[in-house]
Amino acid sequence: MNSVLQHDLHDLENILNQAKQQGIDFLNNLEHIPTSNKNTIDPTRHLNELGLGSLATLKEFNERLAPLMVASPGPRYLGFVTGGSTPASIVGDWLATIYDQNTQAVKAQGGTSALIEFETIHLLLQLLDLPNTFLGGFVTGATMSNFTCLGVARQWFGVQSGKDFAKNGISETINILTSTPHSSSVKTLSMLGIGSNNYTTIKTIEGNREAIDIDDLEKSIQSLNGKPFILISSAGTVNTADFDDFKAISRLREKYNFWWHIDAAFGGFAAVSEKFKHLVEGWEGADSITIDCHKWLNVPYESAFYLIKEKHMSLQVETFQNSNAPYLGNPLENFNYLNVLPENSRRLRALPVWFSLLAYGKEGFQDIVENSTALALHFANAIIENDNFELLAPIRLNNVCFTLKGDHNQENVSQFLTHLNDRGKVFMTPTVYEGRKGIRASFVNWRTTENDIKIIIEEMKESILVLEI
Ligand SMILES: *Cc1c(COP(=O)(O)O)cnc(C)c1O
Repeated sequence: MNSVLQHDLHDLENILNQAKQQGIDFLNNLEHIPTSNKNTIDPTRHLNELGLGSLATLKEFNERLAPLMVASPGPRYLGFVTGGSTPASIVGDWLATIYDQNTQAVKAQGGTSALIEFETIHLLLQLLDLPNTFLGGFVTGATMSNFTCLGVARQWFGVQSGKDFAKNGISETINILTSTPHSSSVKTLSMLGIGSNNYTTIKTIEGNREAIDIDDLEKSIQSLNGKPFILISSAGTVNTADFDDFKAISRLREKYNFWWHIDAAFGGFAAVSEKFKHLVEGWEGADSITIDCHKWLNVPYESAFYLIKEKHMSLQVETFQNSNAPYLGNPLENFNYLNVLPENSRRLRALPVWFSLLAYGKEGFQDIVENSTALALHFANAIIENDNFELLAPIRLNNVCFTLKGDHNQENVSQFLTHLNDRGKVFMTPTVYEGRKGIRASFVNWRTTENDIKIIIEEMKESILVLEI
């Protein structure tokens, strides 16, 4: 063993204690750490011949890199849809690294990590009140979950005309219908060889909505003359957290032959609250569902899962079967994650979620969801009361889409947001909604409180004053 490594091995306890203490310091100080940082590094460091060892490396990290880290797990980081990490999720994440299992087969030689993943999916189905006709697994994010689900949908489409696209490639146009797809679903169409231009956009419901217009959808379906198609629907659009009408889509299923996918990356968590559950009513009829855990479940990156109906397992295996592993035998009998999703080697990504669900239970997540949605309303009310701002859309769940009041101020929106973000107390992201430049604030972090809203509003007022808008 190399002498530096040997030294590290002997010093393991001290090394991990220092890392632990640093974690405690960072997390306890999160409220005071800026949400943005303009300093950068020159990323061309040379690689030293002789290793520094863990502690000297930690020292360099603390000098050069740690000061650049932003408070993205903190309470006022409202950009994109950014969750934080709860204590239990951090424990699960650390232990996933420590135990370093390669989570693949259920009947592996030693190791039950795949069964822990099964158990975690089983717990998630209970949290979301979904039936166990779904099987699921963990991937890095909702993008990869959309990729996994739509990959199986692509195979399903081919099978409708007796083709095996996974083996022979795509040999006919795949009909995709969608209304307000997340950009990652469009990217997925590119990655799957379907083509990011090759989908039909269905109208949204009139009147400040991002949800699919069911009549327009049915018209498009009828123009396909009985041909199969894939429907990508939304449970929570990023601008206004709008939901497609899943009960209406369920009724269409009785008449038409299609694969129904729901991107519920964050909106799926509406299911954990009695107040918002109606938004996902009927979603159990879908063939596949995408859900992120590193957003509203507040576990660290990278964590998401797919749910695909068990009856589609053979299509899923056709799509992802790892042909270099003949010793696995029948993949349906000898279940192995490497045959049903993109990755082969995989960390025990389920563990942070398993810890979170046991530690906080149904009630814990219901409280997080209801707190986030109450704060979104609270923030929206403050915007309505302020003469400098206006809402661009009603508040349906946890996202607030607003802008500077008046069309004459459209040219000031980017400057305002840049200034606000640069001040480092809050972070939001720009958007365009119904042709107008706007700003999005998404509430999913478990730490956010009313006091944070107060700070954010003060910061917004200050920015207006400084910029003389
Ligand atoms: C965030 C998000 C995605 C992409 O998720 P990643 O975890 O960033 O890959 C997809 N769809 C929706 C609706 C999202 O909010």
